[in-house]
Amino acid sequence: MYRVKEAFYTLQGEGAQAGRAAVFCRFSKCNLWTGREKDRAGAVCDFCDTDFVGTDGQNGGRFETPEALATHIHNLWPAAPGTPYVVCTGGEPLLQLDKLLIDAFHGAGFEIGVETNGTLAAPDGIDWLCVSPKADAEVVITECDELKLVYPQPLAPPEQFLGIRARHYFLSPMASPSVPEQGDDPVKRSNTRKATDYCLAHPQWRLTLQMHKILGID
Ligand code: SF4
Repeated sequence: MYRVKEAFYTLQGEGAQAGRAAVFCRFSKCNLWTGREKDRAGAVCDFCDTDFVGTDGQNGGRFETPEALATHIHNLWPAAPGTPYVVCTGGEPLLQLDKLLIDAFHGAGFEIGVETNGTLAAPDGIDWLCVSPKADAEVVITECDELKLVYPQPLAPPEQFLGIRARHYFLSPMASPSVPEQGDDPVKRSNTRKATDYCLAHPQWRLTLQMHKILGID
């Protein structure tokens, strides 16, 4: 059984794949926070701005088989030229994404991207792996396509992750979880300046901004 909070067709907004059309498949649950506000203060990851609780979002649901979920995602892809691309996110997608589902997505013609906190082993067959470490949660993935660090995190300084082999190292300025997506966020503005300064001083790192929020697209 796979539990999906929501699924939707949009443009990837961040990182090296920014601007690419993708079906986002947001899996329910995370291993670093329950998703409930009453638990935020005690969570390992306490700045999350995503609702991943339950299966009641747009195109969300419970899927008994990998083929059923792959078909559901495929139905959200337009009948047009271009390689279908699914981004498995969450929550923490590696709580649910297994080899059977990878094979089903590939069978439906998809390239598979995954955005994970890196604390769980990844199954073989992922085409684009993005690791985003959170606080002091141990990262067990040692190689990925891109490392995307939300910045600043006192317990997760960038230099701590240079042992993870990646094609790209990105800093993503931390937003305030309580500010609406299109609202003015002084915390994020300040963090964008800090991330910019860090990248200027450490050119191995690149700044990535959440394009979808800037443009106001889902
Ligand atoms: S690890 Fe990701 S999904 Fe989980 S609580 Fe943190 S930001 Fe949210």
